[in-house]
Amino acid sequence: IGTSVVNLRLRESLREKSIRDPLSGLFNRRFMEETLEREIRRSIRLKSPVGIIMADIDNFKEFNDTYGHEAGDIMIREIAQLLTNHVRQEDVVCRYGGEEFLLILPGAAPDLVRGRAERLRTDAHSQTIRYMGLPIGPVSVSFGCSSFPADGDDGSEVIKVADMHLLQAKREGRDRVVC
Ligand code: GH3
Ligand code: MG
Ligand code: MG
Repeated sequence: IGTSVVNLRLRESLREKSIRDPLSGLFNRRFMEETLEREIRRSIRLKSPVGIIMADIDNFKEFNDTYGHEAGDIMIREIAQLLTNHVRQEDVVCRYGGEEFLLILPGAAPDLVRGRAERLRTDAHSQTIRYMGLPIGPVSVSFGCSSFPADGDDGSEVIKVADMHLLQAKREGRDRVVC
């Protein structure tokens, strides 16, 4: 029995490692893509929407250049924590790429998605990030939102729309939400 418990724990821990990003503790992109496909199938069955929020830290390269990569890593962890703290249990938060995050909000209508992104945006401002005992910043994040089925027929289409909206938020001056 002891050996099976150890094997089970080992298998569980390997599975956790294969779906999590080690730096932020968030789900990785592969897991997010699988989850999104599943949520979309469920959403079609239930005739309910799926909201997508793509978030990208503003001027992060400058932040790295000013405070160093280690401080940058802390910032990524803090923003990951902020995103996780502000979603519902059934929502999925993942690290999409370097300083880019993607949130899946099953059942969330477009209005709710926008509201959630706005709230995250203002909360990012009040986040004080400490590095070696000193507060560093300022921090701002841009957001692009989309919704299934309003913005596309499948997962990759709605992600593409969220990404386009994120680029628009950057173009229009950053620190904003585009839906
Ligand atoms: P924008 O406001 O347009 O998003 O500008 P930006 O500087 O945030 O974007 P850009 O894509 O130019 O730079 C992203 C930077 O993120 C560059 C890269 O070195 C840094 N980065 C990516 N992954 C990590 C990481 O894991 N840790 C740290 N410290 N930096 C990272
Ligand atoms: Mg950025
Ligand atoms: Mg980026």
